[in-house]
Amino acid sequence: MHSPQESASVSRRSFMRMAGVVAAMPVLTESYFAHAAFQSAQQPAKAAARPMSQQQMMKQMMMSIPKDAVLINANENPLGPCEAARSAIASVASKGGRYDILEMMNLVDVFAKQNNIDPDFVAVYAGSSEPLHYSVLSYTGPSRSFVAGNPTYEAGGRAAEIAKAKILQTPLTSTYAHDVKALAAADSNAGVIYLCNPNNPTGTITPRKDILWLLDNKPKDTMLLVDEAYIHLSDAESVTDQVANRKDIIVLRTFSKVYGMAGIRCGFAIAHPDVLRKLENCGQNAMPITSSIAARVSLEDTELVPKRKAYIANNRNETIKFLEANGYKVIPGSQSNCFMIDTGRNGRQVMNAMAQKKVIIGRTWAVWPDVVRITVGTNDDMAKFRTAFKEVMDTPAAASLIRPADPLHRSFFPQLS
Ligand code: PLP
Repeated sequence: MHSPQESASVSRRSFMRMAGVVAAMPVLTESYFAHAAFQSAQQPAKAAARPMSQQQMMKQMMMSIPKDAVLINANENPLGPCEAARSAIASVASKGGRYDILEMMNLVDVFAKQNNIDPDFVAVYAGSSEPLHYSVLSYTGPSRSFVAGNPTYEAGGRAAEIAKAKILQTPLTSTYAHDVKALAAADSNAGVIYLCNPNNPTGTITPRKDILWLLDNKPKDTMLLVDEAYIHLSDAESVTDQVANRKDIIVLRTFSKVYGMAGIRCGFAIAHPDVLRKLENCGQNAMPITSSIAARVSLEDTELVPKRKAYIANNRNETIKFLEANGYKVIPGSQSNCFMIDTGRNGRQVMNAMAQKKVIIGRTWAVWPDVVRITVGTNDDMAKFRTAFKEVMDTPAAASLIRPADPLHRSFFPQLS
């Protein structure tokens, strides 16, 4: 006979099997990657010697940042939720004693109507990190690989590692788009091809016609996972319309970027209902009513996207103009709230030197160790960034020739180290 503890673990195991769950795993967000990179740039030896949990690392990181530091490291939106969202959160708070799933369904209906999508094809999550991880866990595994561009957002690769999937990466094209031909040809048995448009970290666009080509030319059973987290900040054309007639594409959206709701948490998976049901096996929960209502009224605010898109574009373009005028090399083509600078020296040490000046910038990718990602912040943030960056780059870089080992890069994309 099983003890109560044994029974609990046996039934949990059989539930996991029944549900087809691959493995328990943390859902890692952009802020985790940003903070982890900061920590390991500052204290590589310590981070490698004693790996910390996500929460411990974020706590340590946040406590070590001076209150007046400029935070342009995690592609957040410093403008926060729009006025309508803030008032809606306050007005709905008193109803928080109830499980009110209808508020969530109102959000789905508004989004579906605005985008001409059947509401049954839309699932709501607390951000898009969860459906990103769940898509990879559901469609990759020891015999089904994960294919992505390089550099790109690492969360999918991290989920693939946990699913024990082989990870294959293809370089970006000369215009820093995803190379759809290389992605299609990477593995005839690919479980997931991940395509981030605009791409994080480069901010560059892959044209819709190329994505449609990929859909028609990838291996038939491969799931195409299109991450449109930053699409509103760009002129890229969405591919959400493609879900209507196919079961081999999932599109992700988030309210963390243009809508400024990273801390409120809301996102969508858009896919055929059979696909959404499969993701549910990994986890599905009711949304907080505060988040659902804030997301809905943000969608209904017709001025929000064009205003914020213009604000971010203006700050991005002014900063890039300054950098280029001063002879720094910027990776061209960003239409997003981030862009990259090839510093010509060890990027992690540039991050570190910037942090000494209370400007926290984004991380490097293993494939481009000299290139740092900058998030576009407020006018004031970018003015402080410009001053600090010039000071850092005006300081001789002799010591920067030493490249410390990067435990993060090794862990996420082992084949690169
Ligand atoms: N996808 C990309 C490309 C991102 O950069 C991020 C966060 O920065 C996410 C997904 C997930 O964001 P969230 O979980 O806040 O929606």
